[in-house]
Amino acid sequence: MAKKFHLEIIATDRVFYEGDCEHLVITAIDGLLGILYGHEPLVTSLPTGELKYMVDGKWRYAAISEGFIQVMPESSIILADTCELPEEIDIKRAEEARERAEERLRQKQSIKEYYQTQAALNRAMNRLKISQKHFK
Ligand code: ATP
Repeated sequence: MAKKFHLEIIATDRVFYEGDCEHLVITAIDGLLGILYGHEPLVTSLPTGELKYMVDGKWRYAAISEGFIQVMPESSIILADTCELPEEIDIKRAEEARERAEERLRQKQSIKEYYQTQAALNRAMNRLKISQKHFK
């Protein structure tokens, strides 16, 4: 079994996970990043996407929205706006959020509103994808 490192995943409204982890895989801005004990230090931003982390030999999955990760050889900290387990995702709510965002994109918006709507659409699509992929 891989050597463990300490992982904290902190969302705006809760500490999502704090404990040991054997392997962490995140979608960073430039692609997938795998983290094991002893990884070189880095800080990078995280787009809305999926993360997976292994605890006691089992992968756990989560949907996160935008954030940052700080990696140190013996610990990693993720700060994200939101983070949900696949089984926590309310599919109806995500579908409604997607429909609202799609409707807003058909209307005239300022650049700022456009980026906010696009971000909301990404969050909704990500939740739907992760829920369908990992919670059947
Ligand atoms: P909505 O318009 O439905 O609120 P949103 O993308 O604007 O969606 P966020 O601001 O990303 O929502 O999240 C607000 C809070 O609600 C966070 O705690 C997040 O984890 C939770 N949340 C948002 N959408 C869902 C969902 N579909 N299922 C479960 N929790 C959700």
